[in-house]
Amino acid sequence: MERVFNFSAGPSMLPLPVLERAAAEMVSYGSSGMSVAEMSHRSPDFEPIIAAAEANLRKLMNIPDSYAVLFLQGGASTQFAAVPLNLLGEGGKADYIVSGQFSGKAYTEAQKYGDIALVATSKADGFSYVPATTRESFRPDASYVHICYNNTIFGTKYNYIPDTGDIPLVADMSSCIISEPVDVTKFGVIYAGAQKNMAPAGLTVVIVRRDLLGKARPECPTMLDWSVMAENGSMYNTPPCYTIYMANLVYEWILSLGGLEKMQEMNQKKAALLYDYLDSQDYYITPVRPDCRSMMNVTFVTGDADLDKKFASDAAKAGMKNLKGHRSVGGMRASIYNAMPYEGVEALVAFMKEFAKNNPKK
Ligand SMILES: *Cc1c(COP(=O)(O)O)cnc(C)c1O
Repeated sequence: MERVFNFSAGPSMLPLPVLERAAAEMVSYGSSGMSVAEMSHRSPDFEPIIAAAEANLRKLMNIPDSYAVLFLQGGASTQFAAVPLNLLGEGGKADYIVSGQFSGKAYTEAQKYGDIALVATSKADGFSYVPATTRESFRPDASYVHICYNNTIFGTKYNYIPDTGDIPLVADMSSCIISEPVDVTKFGVIYAGAQKNMAPAGLTVVIVRRDLLGKARPECPTMLDWSVMAENGSMYNTPPCYTIYMANLVYEWILSLGGLEKMQEMNQKKAALLYDYLDSQDYYITPVRPDCRSMMNVTFVTGDADLDKKFASDAAKAGMKNLKGHRSVGGMRASIYNAMPYEGVEALVAFMKEFAKNNPKK
């Protein structure tokens, strides 16, 4: 069967050249005579793969040596606990901004471990924007401030990096990492599940400033202790070898296109096509405040739940899958990560016009 345009929020589309290369190398990788899926993580064939993944991610994101790069398991959700366990200390304080469902979960999880303050939230407005904060918003003795940089479910994104003064800023970047350049040095910790924009599911990347290592609480499980993972080159136990290999293919693909500046240019072009259309008509409504629009996840509704349902099912028949919004919010969501080609968004906009014409509202 021909490939569809897959607008899934995650796991999501991977670049075709990456899939083709993985397919070509599936049965026998290089001169190893075996698949990467079959390799010992301590073998001379695998070691260069994880080393290349780290080097390429460092190059792509311009990550200084003063930061450790970890390749872990457990998904971003495991980091909701790992963050306080590594940074809070005994009886510590941390400040959270809740701008959507995942930052809400992170906030709830952290409450198990210390004095956690909700500094700002857009919950009362349906998470349709990202709250603004200033340095004065945060408690001066907080161990860290936690944000979710791109809100996958609601389709909003930070259009600024919060100024937290000397307090380390921790960001969940699961759905926007490597979509555009970011100044890593503005953050204490960046973490991301790989299955949105980097690789298949199974890998979580944590980028942590080295001076924040070694502060884990005594009860922190060894597997969640970033310093143990850093000391062991992410190989305290078996890492998600095959997914790390796939992530590296994705990093190489982006580098071959021209890096994150180029990726940003391509992503902006795709998002503009869709938002410009949304702004030009009144059949579809986008609930997101214009200055907080996500470049990765574009949400919209018709205002009629039955039409929304029909939209997603008709689109699937036309070769555009997974356009249904998150089960908690309904409506539609087009996730247009790095791997989504411009042609996919063109096809979507053409379909949207056609659907609006053929399905007048009552
Ligand atoms: C998908 C997502 C998560 C959850 O990731 P898992 O890897 O499934 O735990 C957390 N945060 C954000 C921003 C996400 O998009």
